[in-house]
Amino acid sequence: MGIATEADIRRHAARLYEAATTPRLFDRKWWTGRLLEWAIRDDAFKVQLFRFIDVLPTLKTPSQIKRLVDEYFGQDAGLREAPGGRSLMRWGMRALSSVGFGAGVTADTIYNQAIQMANQFIVGAGMKEALPAVADLWKRGIMHSVDLLGEATVCEPEAEAYTARYREAITALAEAASEWRPSPLLEADHLGPLPRTQVSIKLSALDSQFDPIDPEGCYKAVAARLRPLLRAAMQHGVAVTFDMEHFEWKDLTLWIVRRLLMEDEFRAYPFASLALQAYLKDTERDVRELLAWAEARGTPMGVRLVKGAYWDYETIMHRQRGWPVPVFARKDDTDACYERLIPLLLEHHAVIRPAFGTHNLRHVAMVMAETERKGLATKVVELQMLYGMAEPLQAAIVDAGYRLRVYAPVGDLIPGMAYLVRRLLENTANESILRRQFLGNQSLDELLMKPPTPTQTSGAPIAPQAAMGHEGEGEGGGQRLSESAFTNEPHTDFSRAEARERMRTALAALRATLGQRIDLDFLPPRGLTRPTLTARNPARPEEVVGVVSAAVPEDVDEAVSRAVVSGRSWAETPASDRMAVLAKAAKLLRQRRFELAALEVFEVGRGWRDADADVAEAIDFLEYYRRQMRRLAEPIRLGTLLGELNHLVYRSRGVVAVLSPWNFPLAIPTGMVAAALVTGNSVVFKPSERSLVTGHALVEVFREAGLPDGVLQFLPGEPEVGRRLVVHPDVPVIAFTGSKAVGLQIIADAARVSPGQREVKKVVAEMGGKNAIIVDDTADLDEAVAGVIASFLGYQGQKCSACSRAIVLDAMHDDFVERLVEAARSVRMGPPEEPGTGLGPLIDQRAVQKVRDYLAIAKLEGTPVLLPDFTRQPGPNFVGPAIVRNIRPEHRLACEEIFGPVLAVLRARDFDQALAFANATEYALTGGLFSRSPRNIARAREEFLVGNLYINRGIAGALVGRQPFGGGRLSGIGAKAGGPDYLLQFVWSSVLSENTLRRGFSPELS
Ligand SMILES: Cc1cc2nc3c(=O)[nH]c(=O)nc-3n(C[C@H](O)[C@H](O)[C@H](O)COP(=O)(O)OP(=O)(O)OC[C@H]3O[C@@H](n4cnc5c(N)ncnc54)[C@H](O)[C@@H]3O)c2cc1C
Repeated sequence: MGIATEADIRRHAARLYEAATTPRLFDRKWWTGRLLEWAIRDDAFKVQLFRFIDVLPTLKTPSQIKRLVDEYFGQDAGLREAPGGRSLMRWGMRALSSVGFGAGVTADTIYNQAIQMANQFIVGAGMKEALPAVADLWKRGIMHSVDLLGEATVCEPEAEAYTARYREAITALAEAASEWRPSPLLEADHLGPLPRTQVSIKLSALDSQFDPIDPEGCYKAVAARLRPLLRAAMQHGVAVTFDMEHFEWKDLTLWIVRRLLMEDEFRAYPFASLALQAYLKDTERDVRELLAWAEARGTPMGVRLVKGAYWDYETIMHRQRGWPVPVFARKDDTDACYERLIPLLLEHHAVIRPAFGTHNLRHVAMVMAETERKGLATKVVELQMLYGMAEPLQAAIVDAGYRLRVYAPVGDLIPGMAYLVRRLLENTANESILRRQFLGNQSLDELLMKPPTPTQTSGAPIAPQAAMGHEGEGEGGGQRLSESAFTNEPHTDFSRAEARERMRTALAALRATLGQRIDLDFLPPRGLTRPTLTARNPARPEEVVGVVSAAVPEDVDEAVSRAVVSGRSWAETPASDRMAVLAKAAKLLRQRRFELAALEVFEVGRGWRDADADVAEAIDFLEYYRRQMRRLAEPIRLGTLLGELNHLVYRSRGVVAVLSPWNFPLAIPTGMVAAALVTGNSVVFKPSERSLVTGHALVEVFREAGLPDGVLQFLPGEPEVGRRLVVHPDVPVIAFTGSKAVGLQIIADAARVSPGQREVKKVVAEMGGKNAIIVDDTADLDEAVAGVIASFLGYQGQKCSACSRAIVLDAMHDDFVERLVEAARSVRMGPPEEPGTGLGPLIDQRAVQKVRDYLAIAKLEGTPVLLPDFTRQPGPNFVGPAIVRNIRPEHRLACEEIFGPVLAVLRARDFDQALAFANATEYALTGGLFSRSPRNIARAREEFLVGNLYINRGIAGALVGRQPFGGGRLSGIGAKAGGPDYLLQFVWSSVLSENTLRRGFSPELS
């Protein structure tokens, strides 16, 4: 047994190359081929083309299709001024019209031609069409694996329906296959007889709440649907392959499949396979683990080695999240990994049925060469390709006597679109072998080039610490460079087992110590006793999180005067020292990250991800404002004329009152406190009565970070304490985040000048929102439903950025609402300490009562299509989601902030009306649009007037530095939090102008 040499590979490749007679990616007679060739030649055209193809199936009327053709390829499409001076627009239009997409062609033609394009990659719209197609493949000596295309599974009925479709497909395929003529090559491999038919299944489609944060919950849901499918497959003699999807789901998929296949009932089933992706740095390790596991299981198992279909997505999403990118950065490294795994899988053919999914000539040849070198029969291996791709090579493989299986997607155009676009992208990508092989512009030698040996680090699996999504500074993890440019603190990646374990441990440890008592730093005025405020777990109100001795209004004077005194020296402390305190506080938050997240879970009912994100945002505020301070710390020279020296300097204001809300119990107060402190002010901090323990934790962090005594006064108390603080003459700045009612009251109170007051008070107020998401008639419904659900139900709708209005264009309205209702119904309600919980409790009974009041209004104003069942809630503070349609913009449900899981749905006639509805409230905080119409997107950018507009994504979760947060109209006054202007609100500026001429002498001139 040896290792295949380059000469061996070349020999096999040359044979295949010669046999694969058509050196074109697509047959010329296909208009598809023409279009793709245009796309390959021009990236700008390609982007427009693929985006247009993506939206096409959603378009319902001929006029809509015409409109979108014009938007993507017409005068304003932005194609004209592409590099090279060519008129891409005209070029593109010519390309389109030559194949029937251009002006003068009916919408029907365009639609039919798109279907034709899809048909190149999809075997049939349903099983009825697919059965003859797979029978035909069999006749040509090709096996198949049927994949049922589906929309993203957003609700349980969709998961049910998908499972049922697979059951039907398994029976129908088995029945049809029993009629086919025998084929010894296809029906047996080295381990014995093989099923004639196979299906490929995506686990994420079997559970609408598929999420690696909760493996047990997913296992329960997925296994319940998979067991009947596997039973059917065993009964009818059908093979099953589990597709591999996004990296985030990889470990979960491996774990579920392995666990299920170890169940007694399935342990002896030999026709299960798993797809593994060579573009992942983890895969080599995963393959080795799987081999060991398969041996222990004692039943053969298939492995389909592919490179992976989501390279762009993985690269972009992981970069955006600040997580280690799990895929190789260089195509050569992916290829090298693939090449290392070919012999490894072949060596283990006693337990593994090795299958290689690739269209790459070199890799097909390498599989053949390795098989030959190892002295294995050809039937040991299976080569696999995608239906409709590299067909000449497919034929050559069959001719060479190898077993070939094609992946055969079944489904109609809409659910098939994501698949089709992936295939088109793959065919036209620069690095794609398909493009290189079949465009005919590369020699055989170039195509067979051996990938260079990977660099040492490029192949290293991701270290567990880094993989959690943050560096664990101070605990042996990498140190952040303190003066590097600002980057957001990555959220924890809960798909990693270590991260879940740390969160579980933190929750258990904290639960054991809950109930601590917190006192003020000073005694109350003589003769007064302080009331006690008790923080309770909203999910289990009997659980006491902490007991806080609250300030009485008379304490305000003492707290302010302590802040005034200690503030004097703090203002004189060098800015660099103040910045260092923020840096230290950030470091401490990183160290206590899981503990603080656990505290938020218990005190305010945030779920794991929401709690973790809040701590990350708190760190971001510290790091961002610290860096922003550098700009303000040094005098800024103004003007350049000689003889005068002008400096702009920023000075601290004095005592800042920080009044913070409970819903972002750490991030929001951290932001306000940090901004005030770093600019040299002292702070009196009054956290919400509903998040006292977390507020106190923040104070502790600052003290430990070296903030001098007295500079940050902790003043928990009832609203009257806040009122006294606002009007105190020695408090020149009030930073508030909370409701509109309280915010406006603060602004009014602050406007009155009290005796002894020497400054006009400045109020920074972030208030409410009544945020809308517009879903237009070109929206991707999968994304729109998921985006609205996340924005509406995230933290039970208790975010000021939450979506509480969905404005849906007529053409989309009914389909959208139907899916949305089922999606909302599918979200799991329960205690937030359980990782699988999608919907936790509201903060308290007051919040619950408010929602109940609005539900009564909803019944009068609109048509509720989903209402909470108050008899079946897990605790007194839980409220299920409510969706109410037929709401008009003037209704209270469309105007008033509710702060709970209640969504008003407004139907809009057209986009003009949708924009008018969206802008029709007194708030202007966040807003969103789901659309694939370039024109509507451009209009929304101009006309949808909100502080933060999000296009084709959820509307909550603004990131410091990237999406500075804050609204207009009655949503607030002041600069955006987490943005470059924020610190300016905590300083006042002086200009110092000095005449530097002395008796006609200027030092600058001499
Ligand atoms: C039968 C079958 C089943 C499949 N099942 C799955 C599945 O379950 N899951 C899945 O994800 N995919 C699956 N695929 C798709 C498969 O991943 C793609 O078809 C494959 O990526 C194309 O690879 P190739 O060897 O044909 O082409 P090549 O051109 O040799 O490789 C292209 C691949 O290289 C990788 N790549 C591109 N650029 C870079 C870069 N800069 N750095 C690193 N890597 C890069 C990408 O993964 C890209 O897809 C399946 C394919 C087949 C044939």
